[in-house]
Amino acid sequence: LDADAFRRQGRQVADFIADYYDRIEDYPVRPNVSPGFLAAQLPDAAPSWPEEPDALASALRDVRDLILPGLTHWQSPRHFAHFAATASNAGALGEFLAAGLNVNPFTWAASPAAAELEVVVTDWLGQALGLPEKLLFRGGSGGGGTLLGTSCEAMLCTIVAARDQKLLKIGEDRIGDLVVYCSDQTHFSFKKAARVAGIRRGNCRVIPTRFEDGFALSPAALAAAVRDDVARGKVPLFLCATVGTTATGAVDPVRELCAAVGAGHGSGVWVHVDAAYAGGACVCPEFRHVAAGAEEADSFSTNPHKWLLANMDCCALWIRRPGLLVAALGAGEDEDAILNKAPPAARGMQADLMVDYKDWQVPLSRRFRALKLWLVLRCHGVEGLRGVVRGHVRMAAAFEAMVRADPRFEVPVPPAFALVCFRLRPLAAHPGSSSGIDEVNGRLLEAVNGTGRAYMSGAVVGGAYVLRCAVGNSLTEDRHVREAWSVVQEQADAILAPSDD
Ligand code: PLP
Repeated sequence: LDADAFRRQGRQVADFIADYYDRIEDYPVRPNVSPGFLAAQLPDAAPSWPEEPDALASALRDVRDLILPGLTHWQSPRHFAHFAATASNAGALGEFLAAGLNVNPFTWAASPAAAELEVVVTDWLGQALGLPEKLLFRGGSGGGGTLLGTSCEAMLCTIVAARDQKLLKIGEDRIGDLVVYCSDQTHFSFKKAARVAGIRRGNCRVIPTRFEDGFALSPAALAAAVRDDVARGKVPLFLCATVGTTATGAVDPVRELCAAVGAGHGSGVWVHVDAAYAGGACVCPEFRHVAAGAEEADSFSTNPHKWLLANMDCCALWIRRPGLLVAALGAGEDEDAILNKAPPAARGMQADLMVDYKDWQVPLSRRFRALKLWLVLRCHGVEGLRGVVRGHVRMAAAFEAMVRADPRFEVPVPPAFALVCFRLRPLAAHPGSSSGIDEVNGRLLEAVNGTGRAYMSGAVVGGAYVLRCAVGNSLTEDRHVREAWSVVQEQADAILAPSDD
């Protein structure tokens, strides 16, 4: 890295990004491009030599002219799809700093300050969310946190830890008997993680949820499934409870589910709480009840990149007994001397602060994510993050009120956090139309997204198709929410208008 060039080019890139944010509202949120549009405009092979005189400047021009028009603008204040990936100056600059320093803190010795900052910052965040001390380093009972890239990784690592602990007791040949549990609202990545961990496809019990339960997992249904499996000689291994499901923001009752599987009382069922989205809401004391019972759980994860301004990517995972992760994911005696681990004498001194995070994850190498999260917490403070969450929740409530005021629409499930699911009522469909209401709502979503003035997503809940408006972008203001609703109404007018034929 050439320091002088970096100074100059860093400013160029900072200006470029600032200009982008100045103009972000001018871009259609969803680009209007066809597959292959970009490849057709780029050379077939990399240049043999740097482009002269200023390769970066000409590449930035291509980013502006070729790439930006083909992006879905996740930071647009009109992006209401999926869950937001909130951005902030601190989050972006934290990424910039970490990329510039470019350390690889796989062990404490490989970059002591990076490893220790991860210990400190996961404790800070855990405290800010009101997590039980058992999950934090500062609790002194052996728990602690780490920063991974995604919730899917958190699920995989914890299933593997639970699996190895169980197989140690019952014998490796019984892997085919291990059963994992989730609901029909659990994120699909859970099934994938279970498969990667070697759980048989048929041994992932997907328990149906009901409208009457708000699509939350029923402890009674879970307990019945566990009993049934035990009676058939299976071995219950793992439950993934969700706080804030992807489709509707439903909250599984963690305490009651832990009781249903006997977690914390030696049943051997590992309970993981996936709070990828809604965990961020726990910075606000008024939302903490959603995680009640987490002290009985074995692990808890949330994505600060979703709601807590920590630009992509950042998933915080806290574990009650990290030793089980290390037992499953550490290299043990296969470890290579090249890793330069700290000498045993040093390890004895402050062992809890000398975390070799490579043993808490699948890969060896890792990013210095702690720097970004630390910067976000310092620059915004916990109160600042509360303001972000409350602002989004308030705007979502305003959107809900607008939906409810239009008799053509309904809000079929209670809004949760900053997520509103809504749809055209069956009776609102054009009387002459042969289309089903789900199909009409699907067309409505496509029409809304086709305008480029708002971008939402869809979901099927309890067999019905709904549109999802997830308020959560850093730049979204009340006017954007009002405009998004106007777009929905305009497109509904067009779809429901009587046709001439
Ligand atoms: N869990 C829930 C509840 C989610 O909403 C999501 C994604 O939106 C995930 C897990 C997957 O997250 P990741 O992309 O971090 O693996």
